[in-house]
Amino acid sequence: MEIENEKRISLAEIKTGTKCVVIKVNGHGGLRHRLMEMGFVKGETVMVVKNAPLLDPVEYQVMQAHVSLRRSEADKIEVVPLTDDVQPVSDYNGTITEEKNLDGTTVDNNFKVLEKESVFEIDEKRNKIKGINEKKISKTIMEKSSTITVALIGNPNCGKTSFFNHATGLREKVGNYSGVTVDLKVGIFYHKGYTIRLVDLPGTYSITEYSPEERYVREYLTRNNPDMVLNIVDASNLERNLFLTTQLIDMNVRIVMALNMFDELKSKEDKFDYKSLGKMLGLPIVPTTASKGTGISDVLQAIIDVYEDRKNLTKHIHVNYGQDIENAIIPIKQKIEKNKDIINIYPARYIAITVLESSKSTMEEIQALPNGSEIIQEAENRRISLEKSYSEDVSTLITNARYAFIRGALKETYQQGEKGKKWLAYKADDILTNKWLGFPILIFFMWLMFQATFTFGAYPQEWIESGVSWFGETVGAWLNEGILRDLIVEGIIAGVGGVLVFLPNILILFFFISILEDTGYMARAAFIMDKLMHKIGLHGKSFIPFIIGFGCSVPAIMATRTLENKKDRLVTILATPFMSCSARLPVYLLFVSAFFDKNQGLILLSIYAIGVVFAILTAMLLNKTVFNGLSEQFVMELPPYRVPTGRNAFIHMWDKSVQYLQKMATIILAASIIIWALEYFPRTNEKMDALAQQIEEVQDDLTIREVQKTETVTNIERKMTAAQNEYSYIGRFGHFIEPVVSPLGFDWRIGVSLVTGIAAKEVVVSTMAVLFQAESDDIDDNESLKDIIKSQKWAYGPHIGEQVFTPLVAYGFMLFVLLCTPCMAALAAIKREAGTKWAIFSVFYSTGLAWIVSFLVYQIGMLV
Ligand code: GDP
Ligand code: MG
Repeated sequence: MEIENEKRISLAEIKTGTKCVVIKVNGHGGLRHRLMEMGFVKGETVMVVKNAPLLDPVEYQVMQAHVSLRRSEADKIEVVPLTDDVQPVSDYNGTITEEKNLDGTTVDNNFKVLEKESVFEIDEKRNKIKGINEKKISKTIMEKSSTITVALIGNPNCGKTSFFNHATGLREKVGNYSGVTVDLKVGIFYHKGYTIRLVDLPGTYSITEYSPEERYVREYLTRNNPDMVLNIVDASNLERNLFLTTQLIDMNVRIVMALNMFDELKSKEDKFDYKSLGKMLGLPIVPTTASKGTGISDVLQAIIDVYEDRKNLTKHIHVNYGQDIENAIIPIKQKIEKNKDIINIYPARYIAITVLESSKSTMEEIQALPNGSEIIQEAENRRISLEKSYSEDVSTLITNARYAFIRGALKETYQQGEKGKKWLAYKADDILTNKWLGFPILIFFMWLMFQATFTFGAYPQEWIESGVSWFGETVGAWLNEGILRDLIVEGIIAGVGGVLVFLPNILILFFFISILEDTGYMARAAFIMDKLMHKIGLHGKSFIPFIIGFGCSVPAIMATRTLENKKDRLVTILATPFMSCSARLPVYLLFVSAFFDKNQGLILLSIYAIGVVFAILTAMLLNKTVFNGLSEQFVMELPPYRVPTGRNAFIHMWDKSVQYLQKMATIILAASIIIWALEYFPRTNEKMDALAQQIEEVQDDLTIREVQKTETVTNIERKMTAAQNEYSYIGRFGHFIEPVVSPLGFDWRIGVSLVTGIAAKEVVVSTMAVLFQAESDDIDDNESLKDIIKSQKWAYGPHIGEQVFTPLVAYGFMLFVLLCTPCMAALAAIKREAGTKWAIFSVFYSTGLAWIVSFLVYQIGMLV
C-alpha cells in the first residue's frame, strides 16, 4: 500500500471528471514556467474537464480558468488524486509588509479615487492654473507637463483591447507599431486637461523572459519608463491575474488596477471587497466593464489622481516571500545597491529577486557591473542553500510564494458566489468541443467563413475592379498619349488596383477572425485541431491560416498573428503559400479543360492535394532543420465564451485594412512600376510603326464592314502587344531563361507568363493569351484561348513541329504555377510579418521546389 502511494502519478493519468492536487511541476525552464504562471502550482486543485475529439490535448480547470495541455505537457505535472481523505492544504499564507516613508512613518493610504470631491478639486485646481497662464505658457509646454504615459498590462483576454478601444475611441490618434514579434498600439487622447498616451502592450501571464512578449513588456517597462501601469485584471479569474500584479509590485512601478469583467463578477454573485484588497496592495482598484465602456472614466480619473498625488493613493508594499527567501534577498540587494546606475533603471529588490531566480538577461546585465561577479556569487550561494533545504528550485519556490501571497490576500477579501459555481460560460463546450460534433462544427464554421469571405467579397471586388478600370480610362482620356500615360494607367493604376481588389476579402475575413477570437472559439478550434497540426510540428491555431490560404495567401499570412509563438508563426507563414489560392484557379481551369477529357474534377483535386502535401512537408522540413530544437509548447487558455462586441470587430477590421493599404501599397506600387517598365522597355519602334500603319490602313479601307474592322484592328493590336512583349526586357528574360525552363517542356512564352505571374497569379493566363494569340494568324471569334493553346506548335528547337502542350506538359505547368514563388502581394505580406530574409527565402525555396517537381513530372512522364 505504501509503495503504491509513493509511485508518482502525473496529471496525464488522471481520469476525466475527477480532481487532483498538484505537488510538483517538472520539465524544462520555459514550459515549467508557463505551466506555473497558468496556475499549475503546488497545492492547487485541478479538474480534468475533457479530452479533445482526437483525445489530445486535454482540457483542465485550474484556479478559475480552463486551460488545455497536450498530454506530453500534463505528464510533467506530478499530482495526488483527490479523494475524501486527501484535501488540498495551503501551507503558507502571505503577509504584506508596508513600505516606510523616508522619515520612518508608514505611508498613508486613503482611498480617494472614487470619491467625487477629490476629482472635482483637482479639476478645478487645474482649470485655475490654466486660466491664469493660458496665454503665457506655450501650448507645448502645457502639453508636456500634463502628458501621462500609461502602459496597459494584463493577461491575454482580460479585456485590454476593449478598454483601449473605449478609452481612445475613434476620436483620437491611434498609432500601430507593428513589429515582427509584437504589435504595439499607442492611443493619444485628451481627458480633463491631460494628454493621456495609452500604450497597449501584448498580453502576458507574467513578466519574465520566456517568451518574446514577456521580454518585450519587461523591456518596455524598464527602458521606456512609463509614468504608470494600468494593470487590467479579469475579475472572473483573480488568482491567476494577480500573479502578474505581484511582479509589477516587485518592479515598483506606479499601478492603477482596473477590475475588469465586473459585470461577470456581479452576475456570479461573488463577494469581493476590492477596496480592502487595494489597500493591502497599495494601489487603487477601479471596477470596469470594458466591453460596455463602464468605469473607464473612473479609471482615467484614478490615473490622473495617482499622477498628481502619488503619496496618498499608492503605497509601495513588498510581496513577502517568507522568511528564508527574504533572508536570501537582503544580502544580494545590499550588494546591488552599490551601483547607482542600475538601480535607477530597476529597483534593487527586483534585481535581487530575478538574480536569485537566475534569470539569464538580468545576470548578463549584472555581470557587467563592477561588483557583478560578487553579486552573482552571493545569489548562487543563496540559491544553492535554499534549493538544498527545500529540494525545489528557487523560481518554483518564488512562484509558490507569490501564489501564497495572493491566496492570503484573497482569503480575506474574496468569496466565490453560489452562482459562479454553476457558471454557464463554458456550457457551449458541451457541443462545440464535443467528441462527435466538434469536427463537423469546426468544418462548418471554416466553410462559412471561407464562403462569406470569397463569395460576398466577390461583389465589392467587382465594383472595385470596374471602378479601377473606369478610373484608368478617365485618367487615360485626360492625359496625352505617351510614356507618362502608359505608366500611370497601365503601370500604377492597373498594378495597385489589382491589389486593391483584395480589400473586401480582407475586411470580411478579419471581421470573422475578430469574432472567432473574441467569442473564445478560436482557442477551441486550436484545441480540436492540435493533435493533427502537432504531427507536422505546428500549433492547433496554424490551421486557420492554412484554410484561409485556399482563398488568398495575403490575409492568410496576416492571420498568423493569432499565433503566439514566433517559430509557429514563421513556419506557418512559409507553408501557407502552398495552399492553392483562388487566383491560381483560372490557370487550372483553362488547362484542365483543354487537356484532360476525363476525370477533370479528380485532376483539379490532385493539384490542390499536392499543394497541401507540400505545405505539410515544408512545415516538417523547417521544423527538422532551421527551427530544430526550438521548444514549442501548447499550454493554452480556453477563455469562457463571451459575447463579442461589434465595436471591437469593427476596429480590428479597420486596423487591418489600413495596415494592408498603407504597407502593401508602397511595396506594390514600386513593384508594379518595375514590372511595367520591364514590359514596356525597350520599345520596338519600327515594328510598332508598321503595325500602326496597318491599323490606319484598315480603318481607312471603305470596303471592310465596321464589325470586321474592329476585329481586324483588335488582332493587329494584339500583335503589337506580343511584339512588344517579346522585344521587352521581360521577353528577353523569357528567352534568357529558356534553357532553365526547357527541361520542363516549356517554351519561352510559358517562361514569360510565369515571370509575369509574380505580379499576380491570374496574370499568367492573360499574358499567355497575349503571347499565344498573336502568333496564330487568323483568329476567328469562335476560337477560344483553350483551342489556341491546344494548337500551339514548337517553332524551333528539338521538338519542332510538335505540340507545345501535351497533357504531361500541362500537368507539369499547373504544378509549377501551384508551387512557384508567391505573388507580389503575398511576398509583401511575408516581408512584413516575417522580415525580408524570409521573403527572399520563400522566393527561392518555392521556385526551386516548383522546378524540381515539374522537372521530375516531365522527365519521368516522358520515359513512361
Ligand atoms: P484582450 O485580449 O485583453 O485584448 O481582450 P479583449 O478586449 O479582446 O476582450 C476579450 C473578450 O472579452 C471580448 O469578447 C470582449 O468583448 C470581452 N470583454 C472585455 N471586457 C469585458 C467586460 O468587462 N465584461 C464582459 N462580460 N466581457 C468583456
Ligand atoms: Mg487584445
